[in-house]
Amino acid sequence: MAILTVLGGFLRPPDCLACGAADAWPCCAICLPPEPFGPGPWRLAADPAVTMWALGLYGDGLRGAVLAGELRGQAAALAALGRRLGALLLAAGIGADLVTWIAARPARGLPRDHARQVASGVAGALDLPLVDLLVPSSGRDLGRARAGRGRADRADLASARPPPRVRHRLLGGRVLLVDDVVTTGRTLAGAAAALRRAGAREVEAAVLGASSTAFGPPVDRSRAAARLARRGPRGDCAGTR
Ligand SMILES: [Zn+2]
Repeated sequence: MAILTVLGGFLRPPDCLACGAADAWPCCAICLPPEPFGPGPWRLAADPAVTMWALGLYGDGLRGAVLAGELRGQAAALAALGRRLGALLLAAGIGADLVTWIAARPARGLPRDHARQVASGVAGALDLPLVDLLVPSSGRDLGRARAGRGRADRADLASARPPPRVRHRLLGGRVLLVDDVVTTGRTLAGAAAALRRAGAREVEAAVLGASSTAFGPPVDRSRAAARLARRGPRGDCAGTR
């Protein structure tokens, strides 16, 4: 047993990536406490018609774990966090037909496939196919800007990246669009719109960490239900679940 523990230590660091707590890889319960309101649904600030789900607020603990996973090249850590997100979505009863991710161009010759790693964990937990739908759009790389607090928001606001191109024509279907972190949600909103133009019937977004700037107006399910009951099924209930 001791040998297995030692071997396991070689295979992956067993500590919380954010605070170093032992046997808490990839992130301990203190650094990533359960969200009191669950993973969502929320509305995306950049496009309130897009429903957003998140593992947690992009604060100190989760931010530390995500950055450590990305900067130390720990694909397994990002996939493990993605599986946690997927398990929460499963419990919330989210319905989707496939999972895709915000693709990014390689930077300085290194792959930047963090979102794909997160998406692989989400797809695994939901038992959904992972489909490479989006072509990375040109524009400045946001990943490195995220390493500095505050700069991420400005980088996201300042970027005027064209929406990504979709590789395939879609025949309806519900797409779950995954990214590692969302700040204002412009990137997610642009990709969601491109997927809908390509034929997706419904697009929802799921991220590990959401900055406070990413949250749009709250989803008021009780008011939406009351409106639906008053007006009948023709009432506009877009964006509510
Ligand atoms: Zn921790």
